[in-house]
Amino acid sequence: MSSIDLIFATNNANKVKEIKAVTGDVLSILSLAEAGIEIDIPEPHETLEANASEKSAVIHQLTQKNCFSEDTGLEVEALNGAPGVKSARYAGDSRNFQANIDLLLHNLASFTNRSAQFRTVISLIWNEQEYLFEGICKGQIMKEASGKEGFGYDPVFKPDGATKTFAEMSLAEKNQYSHRKKAMQQLLAFLATAVEKA
Ligand code: IMP
Repeated sequence: MSSIDLIFATNNANKVKEIKAVTGDVLSILSLAEAGIEIDIPEPHETLEANASEKSAVIHQLTQKNCFSEDTGLEVEALNGAPGVKSARYAGDSRNFQANIDLLLHNLASFTNRSAQFRTVISLIWNEQEYLFEGICKGQIMKEASGKEGFGYDPVFKPDGATKTFAEMSLAEKNQYSHRKKAMQQLLAFLATAVEKA
Protein backbone atom coordinates (compact mmCIF):
# COMPACT_ATOMS: atom_id res chain seq x y z
CA MET A 1 0.00 0.00 0.00
CA SER A 2 1.42 3.43 -0.85
CA SER A 3 1.25 6.11 1.82
CA ILE A 4 -2.24 7.45 2.55
CA ASP A 5 -2.99 10.71 4.38
CA LEU A 6 -5.37 10.34 7.28
CA ILE A 7 -6.28 12.87 9.98
CA PHE A 8 -6.44 11.40 13.47
CA ALA A 9 -9.15 13.33 15.33
CA THR A 10 -7.47 13.56 18.72
CA ASN A 11 -5.59 16.03 20.89
CA ASN A 12 -4.04 13.22 22.93
CA ALA A 13 -0.32 13.13 22.10
CA ASN A 14 0.08 9.68 23.73
CA LYS A 15 -2.56 8.18 21.45
CA VAL A 16 -0.88 9.74 18.41
CA LYS A 17 2.48 8.25 19.42
CA GLU A 18 0.97 4.79 19.92
CA ILE A 19 -0.92 4.87 16.62
CA LYS A 20 2.05 6.14 14.61
CA ALA A 21 4.14 3.27 16.02
CA VAL A 22 1.57 0.82 14.61
CA THR A 23 1.12 2.38 11.18
CA GLY A 24 4.79 3.08 10.39
CA ASP A 25 5.12 4.42 6.83
CA VAL A 26 1.94 2.77 5.52
CA LEU A 27 -0.20 5.70 6.61
CA SER A 28 0.71 9.32 6.96
CA ILE A 29 -1.13 10.17 10.18
CA LEU A 30 -1.80 13.83 10.91
CA SER A 31 -2.82 14.74 14.45
CA LEU A 32 -5.25 17.65 14.82
CA ALA A 33 -2.34 19.89 15.80
CA GLU A 34 -0.38 18.78 12.71
CA ALA A 35 -3.43 19.44 10.54
CA GLY A 36 -3.67 22.95 12.03
CA ILE A 37 -7.03 22.26 13.68
CA GLU A 38 -7.67 23.63 17.16
CA ILE A 39 -10.79 22.12 18.64
CA ASP A 40 -11.82 20.30 21.80
CA ILE A 41 -14.26 17.74 20.46
CA PRO A 42 -17.04 16.84 22.88
CA GLU A 43 -17.59 13.28 24.12
CA PRO A 44 -21.17 13.61 25.39
CA HIS A 45 -22.55 10.17 24.58
CA GLU A 46 -23.23 6.99 26.56
CA THR A 47 -21.23 4.65 24.34
CA LEU A 48 -17.68 4.56 22.99
CA GLU A 49 -19.16 3.99 19.52
CA ALA A 50 -21.29 7.17 19.62
CA ASN A 51 -18.41 9.30 20.93
CA ALA A 52 -16.00 7.97 18.30
CA SER A 53 -18.58 8.63 15.57
CA GLU A 54 -19.15 12.16 16.77
CA LYS A 55 -15.43 12.97 16.80
CA SER A 56 -14.78 11.69 13.27
CA ALA A 57 -17.96 13.37 11.96
CA VAL A 58 -16.95 16.75 13.42
CA ILE A 59 -13.50 16.60 11.85
CA HIS A 60 -14.83 15.34 8.54
CA GLN A 61 -17.31 18.22 8.41
CA LEU A 62 -14.51 20.68 9.10
CA THR A 63 -12.00 19.27 6.62
CA GLN A 64 -13.97 17.18 4.09
CA LYS A 65 -11.03 14.76 4.31
CA ASN A 66 -10.67 11.10 5.23
CA CYS A 67 -10.16 10.88 8.96
CA PHE A 68 -10.60 8.66 11.98
CA SER A 69 -11.11 8.99 15.70
CA GLU A 70 -11.05 6.60 18.59
CA ASP A 71 -12.69 6.40 21.97
CA THR A 72 -11.38 4.11 24.67
CA GLY A 73 -12.76 2.99 27.99
CA LEU A 74 -11.55 0.86 30.87
CA GLU A 75 -14.31 -1.64 31.67
CA VAL A 76 -13.99 -3.22 35.12
CA GLU A 77 -16.00 -6.41 35.69
CA ALA A 78 -16.68 -5.96 39.42
CA LEU A 79 -17.86 -2.39 38.79
CA ASN A 80 -20.34 -3.47 36.11
CA GLY A 81 -18.24 -2.02 33.31
CA ALA A 82 -17.37 1.30 34.99
CA PRO A 83 -15.62 3.63 34.42
CA GLY A 84 -16.21 2.62 30.76
CA VAL A 85 -17.23 5.50 28.54
CA LYS A 86 -16.67 7.86 31.51
CA SER A 87 -13.00 6.80 31.93
CA ALA A 88 -11.52 10.24 31.25
CA ARG A 89 -13.79 12.01 33.75
CA TYR A 90 -14.20 9.23 36.33
CA ALA A 91 -13.08 11.45 39.21
CA GLY A 92 -14.33 14.73 37.74
CA ASP A 93 -14.11 17.15 34.86
CA SER A 94 -10.43 17.94 35.41
CA ARG A 95 -9.65 14.59 33.68
CA ASN A 96 -6.84 14.01 36.17
CA PHE A 97 -5.10 10.65 35.63
CA GLN A 98 -3.98 10.28 39.26
CA ALA A 99 -7.39 11.17 40.70
CA ASN A 100 -9.01 8.66 38.34
CA ILE A 101 -6.62 5.92 39.46
CA ASP A 102 -7.15 6.76 43.14
CA LEU A 103 -10.92 6.55 42.76
CA LEU A 104 -10.71 3.28 40.84
CA LEU A 105 -8.50 1.65 43.50
CA HIS A 106 -10.80 2.96 46.22
CA ASN A 107 -13.94 1.61 44.52
CA LEU A 108 -12.31 -1.77 43.90
CA ALA A 109 -10.79 -2.13 47.37
CA SER A 110 -13.34 -4.65 48.67
CA PHE A 111 -13.38 -6.85 45.54
CA THR A 112 -11.26 -9.92 44.84
CA ASN A 113 -12.35 -9.95 41.20
CA ARG A 114 -9.98 -7.43 39.56
CA SER A 115 -10.65 -8.43 35.95
CA ALA A 116 -10.92 -5.57 33.49
CA GLN A 117 -10.52 -4.75 29.85
CA PHE A 118 -9.58 -1.78 27.76
CA ARG A 119 -11.88 -1.42 24.77
CA THR A 120 -11.10 0.89 21.87
CA VAL A 121 -13.59 1.81 19.18
CA ILE A 122 -12.27 3.47 16.04
CA SER A 123 -14.56 5.38 13.69
CA LEU A 124 -13.08 5.79 10.23
CA ILE A 125 -14.60 8.06 7.62
CA TRP A 126 -13.33 6.83 4.31
CA ASN A 127 -14.70 8.22 1.05
CA GLU A 128 -17.74 9.67 2.86
CA GLN A 129 -18.68 6.37 4.56
CA GLU A 130 -18.21 5.46 8.21
CA TYR A 131 -16.60 2.17 9.34
CA LEU A 132 -16.21 1.03 12.98
CA PHE A 133 -13.41 -1.16 14.36
CA GLU A 134 -12.92 -2.54 17.87
CA GLY A 135 -9.90 -3.70 19.87
CA ILE A 136 -9.95 -5.30 23.32
CA CYS A 137 -7.16 -5.99 25.80
CA LYS A 138 -8.09 -8.08 28.84
CA GLY A 139 -6.18 -7.89 32.10
CA GLN A 140 -6.20 -7.19 35.82
CA ILE A 141 -6.28 -4.05 37.96
CA MET A 142 -3.31 -4.03 40.32
CA LYS A 143 -3.64 -3.02 43.99
CA GLU A 144 -0.99 -0.31 43.58
CA ALA A 145 0.21 1.88 40.75
CA SER A 146 3.52 0.92 39.20
CA GLY A 147 5.57 2.43 36.35
CA LYS A 148 5.93 5.82 34.70
CA GLU A 149 5.36 5.16 30.99
CA GLY A 150 2.14 5.60 29.04
CA PHE A 151 -0.85 7.51 30.37
CA GLY A 152 -4.24 7.23 32.03
CA TYR A 153 -4.80 3.97 33.88
CA ASP A 154 -1.59 2.35 32.54
CA PRO A 155 0.11 2.22 36.00
CA VAL A 156 -2.63 -0.05 37.42
CA PHE A 157 -3.42 -2.24 34.40
CA LYS A 158 -1.55 -5.49 33.77
CA PRO A 159 -2.57 -7.22 30.54
CA ASP A 160 -3.18 -10.98 30.66
CA GLY A 161 0.02 -12.84 29.76
CA ALA A 162 2.28 -9.98 30.91
CA THR A 163 4.34 -9.71 34.09
CA LYS A 164 4.20 -5.93 34.38
CA THR A 165 1.79 -3.03 34.03
CA PHE A 166 1.41 -1.03 30.82
CA ALA A 167 3.22 1.83 32.58
CA GLU A 168 6.28 -0.41 33.11
CA MET A 169 6.45 -1.21 29.39
CA SER A 170 8.08 0.52 26.45
CA LEU A 171 5.75 1.64 23.68
CA ALA A 172 6.74 -1.42 21.63
CA GLU A 173 5.94 -3.74 24.54
CA LYS A 174 2.56 -2.09 25.20
CA ASN A 175 1.74 -2.47 21.54
CA GLN A 176 2.18 -6.26 21.81
CA TYR A 177 -1.03 -6.30 23.88
CA SER A 178 -2.74 -3.00 23.19
CA HIS A 179 -6.47 -2.58 22.54
CA ARG A 180 -5.64 0.48 20.43
CA LYS A 181 -3.19 -1.47 18.28
CA LYS A 182 -5.72 -4.28 17.72
CA ALA A 183 -8.37 -1.81 16.55
CA MET A 184 -5.83 -0.03 14.35
CA GLN A 185 -4.72 -3.29 12.75
CA GLN A 186 -8.29 -3.86 11.64
CA LEU A 187 -8.42 -0.38 10.15
CA LEU A 188 -5.17 -1.11 8.28
CA ALA A 189 -6.52 -4.41 6.96
CA PHE A 190 -9.68 -2.64 5.79
CA LEU A 191 -7.69 0.06 4.01
CA ALA A 192 -5.41 -2.48 2.35
CA THR A 193 -8.47 -4.10 0.76
CA ALA A 194 -10.24 -0.81 0.01
CA VAL A 195 -7.20 0.66 -1.74
CA GLU A 196 -6.60 -2.54 -3.72
CA LYS A 197 -10.19 -2.46 -5.01
CA ALA A 198 -10.08 1.24 -5.93
P1 IMP B 1 -10.66 8.89 25.64
O1 IMP B 1 -10.70 7.84 24.59
O2 IMP B 1 -9.71 9.98 25.30
O3 IMP B 1 -12.01 9.36 26.06
O4 IMP B 1 -9.99 8.16 26.87
C1 IMP B 1 -10.63 7.99 28.07
C2 IMP B 1 -9.66 7.80 29.19
O5 IMP B 1 -9.33 6.43 29.24
C3 IMP B 1 -8.35 8.55 29.09
O6 IMP B 1 -8.40 9.79 29.65
C4 IMP B 1 -7.44 7.66 29.89
O7 IMP B 1 -7.57 7.96 31.24
C5 IMP B 1 -8.02 6.29 29.64
N1 IMP B 1 -7.28 5.58 28.58
C6 IMP B 1 -7.56 5.52 27.27
N2 IMP B 1 -6.66 4.75 26.64
C7 IMP B 1 -5.81 4.31 27.59
C8 IMP B 1 -4.67 3.48 27.55
O8 IMP B 1 -4.22 2.98 26.51
N3 IMP B 1 -4.07 3.26 28.74
C9 IMP B 1 -4.52 3.79 29.91
N4 IMP B 1 -5.56 4.58 29.99
C10 IMP B 1 -6.22 4.84 28.84
